[in-house]
Amino acid sequence: MALIIDGKKISQNIKDELKEEVARLKEQGTNCCLAVIQVGDDPASSVYVRNKKRACEYIGIESKSFELPETTTEEELLKLIDDLNNDDSVNGILCQLPLPKHIDEDKVIKGISPKKDVDGFHPQNVGALVIGEKGFVSCTPAGIIQLLKRSNIEIDGKNCVVIGRSNIVGKPMSLLMLRENATVTVCHSHTKNLKEITKQADILIVAIGKPKFVTEDFVKDGAVVIDVGIHRMENKKLCGDVDYDKVVDKVSAITPVPGGVGPMTIAMLMHNCVEATKMF
Ligand code: NAD
Repeated sequence: MALIIDGKKISQNIKDELKEEVARLKEQGTNCCLAVIQVGDDPASSVYVRNKKRACEYIGIESKSFELPETTTEEELLKLIDDLNNDDSVNGILCQLPLPKHIDEDKVIKGISPKKDVDGFHPQNVGALVIGEKGFVSCTPAGIIQLLKRSNIEIDGKNCVVIGRSNIVGKPMSLLMLRENATVTVCHSHTKNLKEITKQADILIVAIGKPKFVTEDFVKDGAVVIDVGIHRMENKKLCGDVDYDKVVDKVSAITPVPGGVGPMTIAMLMHNCVEATKMF
C-alpha cells in the first residue's frame, strides 16, 4: 500500500509551528508584516491572494493589501515596490503573478529587495541557492522538501528525476534535491526517451503542466512520486500532471491532487515571511 503524502496535514503542522513563532516574536515586540500586491482582477490570482491573506491572519502575520487596477503602469508598480522596500514596517513583499502584459515581470522581480523577496524569485536569491548560501527559496520546491522530510523519505544518495525546468519549480527543485545529496536528472520538453529516464527514479518529481501526463509506464516499482501539477478537468474536479489512479498501486509514496503539494506553497510563503522578519 502506497503512503499517500498528506500535504494538508503537513502544511497545517508548519502553519501551527509558525503561529507559535510569530506569537513569540510579538512578545519580544517584533511584528511580522507581508505586503501583498495584486494588479488587475484575474479570478485565479484573486483566489491565491485571498488564501495567502487568510494564512497570514491564521498565523498572526499582518498583511497589507495593495489591489491595483489593470491599467497600473510599470513605473507606478515599481514605485510602490520601492516604497515598500524602504518601509521598515514591511518584512516581505509579494507581487502576485502573472502581471498584465504591459508590465515586465522580470523588472518587477528584480525590483523587490532580495531581503523582502519571500517568493524567492530574485536573481540574488536564486544565485544563493545555486552556490548553497542562505537565501529565500521558491515556495513550491521548498514545500516539496518539507513533504519528503516530514514523511521520513530519505533523499540522500537517491536517484531523483525532475520533469520540468521552469524558474519557479523545476530548476529550484533540482537544486534543492542536489543540496540534499540526491543524484539529480532534469528532464524537459527536449528530453529524448523520457520514460527510460523517469523509470530510473527513486524519487520522481513532476512539474510539466500537462494533465495526467505521467502514467504507470513512466514509474519504477516502489518509487516516490511527487505531483506538482494542478488542472481543473471538464467535470470540475482537480487533477495533477500524474495519472494518480494508474500509478498509485505501483509506488511506495505519492502526493494526491488536491491535498498534496498545493497547500505547501502557502505554508512555505509564510515560513519565508517569518524568516524575513527574523533577518531584520
Ligand atoms: P511551466 O509551463 O513553466 O514548465 C513546464 C516544464 O515542463 C517546462 O520546463 C517544459 O520544458 C517541461 N515540459 C513540457 N512538456 C514536456 C514534455 N512533453 N516532456 C518533458 N518535459 C516537458 O510550468 P510550471 O510553472 O513549472 O508548473 C508546472 C505545473 O505545476 C503546472 O501544472 C502548474 O499549474 C503547477 N504548479 C503548481 C504549484 C502548486 O503550488 N501546487 C505551483 C506552481 C506550479
